[in-house]
Amino acid sequence: METKYIFITGGVASSLGKGIVSASLGKLLQARGYRITIQKFDPYINIDPGTLNPYEHGECYVTADGMETDLDLGHYERFTGIETTRDNSVTTGRIYLSVIERERRGDYLGKTIQVVPHITDEIKRRIQLNASKQQLDFVITEIGGTIGDIESQPFLEAIRQLRWELGPRRALNVHLTYVPYLAAAGELKTKPTQTSVKQLQGLGIQPEVLVLRTEHDLSDELRTKVAHFCNVDVEAVIQSQDLPSIYEVPVNMQRQGLDTICLKKMGEEIGVTPELGPWRAFLERRRKATLTVDIALVGKYDLQDAYKSIHESLAHAGTYNSYKVQVHFINSEYLTSENIAQQLAGMSGVVICPGFGLRGIEGKIIAAEYARTHDLPAFGICLGMQMMVIEFARNVLGYSDADSREMNAETPHNVIDLMEEQKHITQMGGTMRLGAYECELRDGSMVAEAYNPHRGTAGHTIVCERHRHRYEFNNAYREEFEAAGMQCVGINPGADLVEIVEVPQHRWYVGTQFHPEYSSTVLHPHPLFMSFVRACIGGK
Ligand code: GLN
Repeated sequence: METKYIFITGGVASSLGKGIVSASLGKLLQARGYRITIQKFDPYINIDPGTLNPYEHGECYVTADGMETDLDLGHYERFTGIETTRDNSVTTGRIYLSVIERERRGDYLGKTIQVVPHITDEIKRRIQLNASKQQLDFVITEIGGTIGDIESQPFLEAIRQLRWELGPRRALNVHLTYVPYLAAAGELKTKPTQTSVKQLQGLGIQPEVLVLRTEHDLSDELRTKVAHFCNVDVEAVIQSQDLPSIYEVPVNMQRQGLDTICLKKMGEEIGVTPELGPWRAFLERRRKATLTVDIALVGKYDLQDAYKSIHESLAHAGTYNSYKVQVHFINSEYLTSENIAQQLAGMSGVVICPGFGLRGIEGKIIAAEYARTHDLPAFGICLGMQMMVIEFARNVLGYSDADSREMNAETPHNVIDLMEEQKHITQMGGTMRLGAYECELRDGSMVAEAYNPHRGTAGHTIVCERHRHRYEFNNAYREEFEAAGMQCVGINPGADLVEIVEVPQHRWYVGTQFHPEYSSTVLHPHPLFMSFVRACIGGK
């Protein structure tokens, strides 16, 4: 079939869960056997979120092909299991950059370069790029921001044009809005939705489907009212109420027919409703998991979204281990040797988070030391792994001044050093070691044990994991670490970079230079998180 395009826009307020609705719709269409991709177009000017502080925009998610992207791509992958690429994440900055580069090359032959048509043409080209490279039945495009934002105007104009060019059955708009409840009046209010749809209509876009975010059940009467005011079929007004977990959303959307209404509007035949067996089994396990395991997350961003993928990976692994993981955020900035015991009291394990820069790193080192000396299962990720290495160098190898070059350029014991290939890099954006690289596991190690039952055949010891870093374990110290008990059990074969360290004497003490959290999905939890959570439970 010819590729069809579904656009997901949002109105009234941000943070309504557009990413989850996009991921859910993708999941439902995929379950019907369609080839799909989900992509995110963000109106901000940064080329990518790589240079954004997580307080601004949450976690930076990294694709296997090394693009730093919006955290919604994490939802797309966790829901569908389909890997996204650099073509799935586009910002205004990237659009302008390519247009300006073309202008500098002289490609426009003296023309005046304008938002319409040059920027909008480039947006349209990018929207269709994925489908030009692979066979796709549906391309779902989520537009970041909220209708009415000045900066999203060119995107909406591009969608309007594209809908016209493609014709009615090849493009469709799903608009997500908010229906607030006024407690004093005891009423749900639809006016913001009406206004938001009018705004879209004013831009020449008539949404075919409305998804109404709400904290209360919407009556048929209310849905009918919205339908009439907004030129939408009653059956195309879907509610998205608060649910106990984001993973309930696809099932809820299926029950209300979000996928079938989209298919109908696009002239597709509606076959049998997919059962979503493994997905429902996951939800069932999740509901049944009543025992709790408490895991500390030691990081510097007191904002859930900053460690989104880690939270989700822990939740997946908990579910498959039949436990509920209760994550306790501990701000590493305020961790001291004096309060650590009290802060970690009752915890069955600790994750030491990724990060950049000096703030909060001593707290991470203290957490690593506490976990190591109290045999508390510990998982260090990226910067977390580097802090485990520094702690070991300081307290076991006896190099009290051991450090990372990132934190102390002058340290005589640079157990974490700038990667060779990074030494001449001056630009910050998109220049780290990014994306998936191979890692060879040492036979008999804890991590090989953790991976093998899940990935590849026995004895197959190469795994592929995603990275985002500039600094690395300094190989000059490798033998010393190994002799003292910290083993380098995962190595990148090409570059001989240390990818994983573990201390096998402990119940579970592992640091990874890569980010396993980017590749844990609902149906395929990550083996290292599985093994870590198992160890945490075992110790209870
Ligand atoms: N700041 C460290 C580095 O660049 C770790 C990065 C991370 O945790 N993602 O190597």
